[in-house]
Amino acid sequence: MLNGWGLNVDPLCLLCNTAQESRYHLFFECRYSESVWRRIAYRCDLQVLTSWDDIVAQLQDLRTNRDSLRLPLLATQAVIYWLWTERNSRLHRQTFKPPEAIISLIDKQIRNRLQSIRHAIPRASSAMSQLWFLRS
Ligand SMILES: [Zn+2]
Repeated sequence: MLNGWGLNVDPLCLLCNTAQESRYHLFFECRYSESVWRRIAYRCDLQVLTSWDDIVAQLQDLRTNRDSLRLPLLATQAVIYWLWTERNSRLHRQTFKPPEAIISLIDKQIRNRLQSIRHAIPRASSAMSQLWFLRS
């Protein structure tokens, strides 16, 4: 948008510096994003898709089993949050984390979340934890 106003703003993706930034690129065509997403999708037993529309369709298809749906949704939200945070850190603070550091942050956040829901929804928490730790 800023480019349209004649301002000289670099339109390159801040995560890979090789492609134009867009929602579709960031989630998850970008090779940086994809390397994070691939790891997290594996741990949720999700098929690794890199097209946003395909991922949304896949998550919607999981609705038949609520317990199994919770982990992929939680993890997908975490991936989007941390990739966007990393993108903004690069833009505003010039700090750079490798994909492994983002994966580690996501893992910690999900472990904390699983711990925090252990008493409220024990069955779902147990099912999600088994899946998450099985593939760690
Ligand atoms: Zn990129």
